[in-house]
This record gives sequence, C-alpha cells and structure tokens, in this order.
Amino acid sequence: MSQKAAVPETASSSAPAEWRAAKRWNPFNSYKLLAHVARWRQIARGFVIPPPVLITVDPANACNFDCAWCNAKYVREQRNFMLSHKTLSDIARFLPRWGEGSGYAEPGVKAICVAGGGEPLLNKATPSFIEEVCSNGVEVGVVTNGSLMHECVEALSRCTWVGVSVDAGSAGTLNKQKGLDPSRQEFGRIVDNIARLADYAKSHSAQLGKPHPSYGVSYKYLLYKENIGEVYQAAKLAKEIGCKSIHYRPAGTTWNNVTGGEQITFSDGDIALFNEQIALAQELDDETFSVFGVTHKFDSQFGIFNAFERCHAIFMTAVVSPPLTRESPKDAFVLGLCCDRRGDAALELLQDCTDVEQIEKAWGGERHWAVHDAIQVRRCPRCTYQPHNQIYEQVILNDSMTYKFI
Ligand code: SF4
Repeated sequence: MSQKAAVPETASSSAPAEWRAAKRWNPFNSYKLLAHVARWRQIARGFVIPPPVLITVDPANACNFDCAWCNAKYVREQRNFMLSHKTLSDIARFLPRWGEGSGYAEPGVKAICVAGGGEPLLNKATPSFIEEVCSNGVEVGVVTNGSLMHECVEALSRCTWVGVSVDAGSAGTLNKQKGLDPSRQEFGRIVDNIARLADYAKSHSAQLGKPHPSYGVSYKYLLYKENIGEVYQAAKLAKEIGCKSIHYRPAGTTWNNVTGGEQITFSDGDIALFNEQIALAQELDDETFSVFGVTHKFDSQFGIFNAFERCHAIFMTAVVSPPLTRESPKDAFVLGLCCDRRGDAALELLQDCTDVEQIEKAWGGERHWAVHDAIQVRRCPRCTYQPHNQIYEQVILNDSMTYKFI
C-alpha cells in the first residue's frame, strides 16, 4: 500500500493554498467524500452494491470547439453520436428509483453531472433532460463551453451549478487553444452568456441564483501552457460578470496517451508563473467571489499522483454516454465506469444497451468485478477519483482514521 498522504496537498510548500482557510467548506474539498463512507462500506464482493451518489451523463460525443487538451478527443473521433430524447428521458425517470428494491436505506442517485464527452448543449434534448431530472428531485451540475447557453437559460437556471470551461482570459488565447476562427467571436458570446445566466438566475430566484456561496456559475480554467499567465485576468473578468467562483486545475495527459503519445507536462517556469498568478487572483477572493483550485490530485509538477493500489471508484460513480456506431439502435447508450477513460471499451459495463433497467442488473455483477480486477492503476491517467480510492483504502479498508472515534 502506498504511504503517500490521502489528503489535499498544495503543489509545493511555497505554493498558495488551494483556497482561503475561511472557505475550506467548499465544493472542491475532497473531504466531502467522507460523508459517503457508510454507503461505500458496502462495496464488497458478493454484496449488493449501492447506487452511486452521482453519475455523469454525456448527452453528446460531439463538439463545436477543438480544445488542445480535450480528454474526450477519442470518443469524439471514434463515436461522435448523441443520446436520444427517449433515452435521456428514460434515464431521468430511472435515476431516483435506482436501488429501490435492494432494501438500501437511501436509494436513488442524488446528483448528476451533465458533461462531455463533447459539448452537452449541442444535443437539443439536453435542456428538457435537465428540467426532468430536477423535477424528479435529483440535483444537476453542467459543464459546458458556454457557446450555446443563451439557448437554454431557463433550464440551466434550475441547476445547482454551471461550470463554464473558458480556460482563457482573452479572445486570442481562447481561439488559439480551442481551434476557433476569430471571426466566430466566441469569447464575447461566452462572456455575454455567463453574465446573462448569472443575472437571470438571481432575478428569478432560481436554484442557480440562490445566495449559497457554492451554487451559481463558475468560470472553469484548465491550466495548459500558454494560458497560465492569464489566470488573474480571467479571475477579474469572472468576478465582474457575476460568476461565484473561478476554478482552476491543471490539464492532464489523456488515457490513450499515458503509455506513449502526447504527454502534457509543466516546466518549473510554468509552476512559478502559476503560483504568482494564483496569489494575485486570491486577492479578489471575498464574500461574493471565490478562488478555488484543485491541485491536490496532482504531484508538485502537476503530473500523475495516483497514490492508491486498486480502483474502487468504479463502484461509486458511472458515465452514461452515446452509442458506439452509426448502426447502433437509435435509443442505445453506453454505461462506462470512468470519466477519465471515456471510450475505453475495457471500462464499459454496458455497450449499446436500450433498456435503462439493465443498469441496475449489471451494477456490482460479475462483469463489474472483472473490470475492477483487470484495472492496472499504473496505466491510468491522472485519476479524478484519486481521493475516492484513497478514502476507500485508507478509511474503509485500513481504518487509518479510526473513524468511529469522533
Ligand atoms: S482513472 Fe483508473 S483508477 Fe481512476 S477511476 Fe478511472 S479506472 Fe479507476
């Protein structure tokens, strides 16, 4: 078992903290996972595995942008399809029922992340899906590139949070990193869309506009080479246009490039510039605006830091995504087990399934455990679920915190 720490660490001892001490109860603090230990204790061979607290739904494996670091490039190139209206509606109705018959005290998925796999709002059924999921009592967060938000402001205002992946503080950097022709004027459109959504949610007392500091629109910032010097500029803009926060984290090498292919690396100069920019950005942090970072899932050079032995996170969450091929049935979907390995068939529990009830039947079954047994963590990219896996090993299996002694 690895001896590395299971708790958030900053990139280096001289680096700014990821958030102000007064803001430690925030959505990016991985300690929130401890709230689910009782549920995850039931992850064991031969037992009924509880439904995930959260799943990800990718309505589209297509995109109108072409980001240099895209972790969905593989599925966009190999699949490039969308979930049908019927499938999305079936999923919306299934989520609160998942686990009802198992005798589990708290059945149902509690939240979903609508993301990509591509740009979720390219699928015209996404807004009604969001509305249906919210109406069924399941909370929704959306990750979008922001270019189409003006088409579904009402639906987005029902979300708990909307993260807009801008990743730049200027039009030039946005265009360069996302393969956009400047004549499209996407930067201006995204900025307008963010301001409009934030304003609408607030003035309509929608879920997204609630005064709670962790609800609302977040300006997402993936650190990647040439955008590091614009973090402060972006934070200033984010605050001006009504975002509740800016959220930065380093881009990582994609799963299909981990053992060869294009690697994403950061130099000492990049890290120094990043520390400088974050320190400046944090001066903007106050009661209306927060600066949050997620560097604790990376090592000090923002490289892979998967400090655990086995993957149990594949029993804690899942990804519903579009079908495999043009010949697949119209209402088919894929149930993947890892958002960092989208399109990796070895991590897919169901392929081209048309019946959402099959999800529960497959969950925790023979194939699920076979996938678990086959995962070699050293072949994985930077794991989003590193804290999930560490908590399973350190808190549940090893009882390193003697967690019953509160
Ligand atoms: S990246 Fe690897 S270890 Fe992490 S959740 Fe995915 S399969 Fe599991």
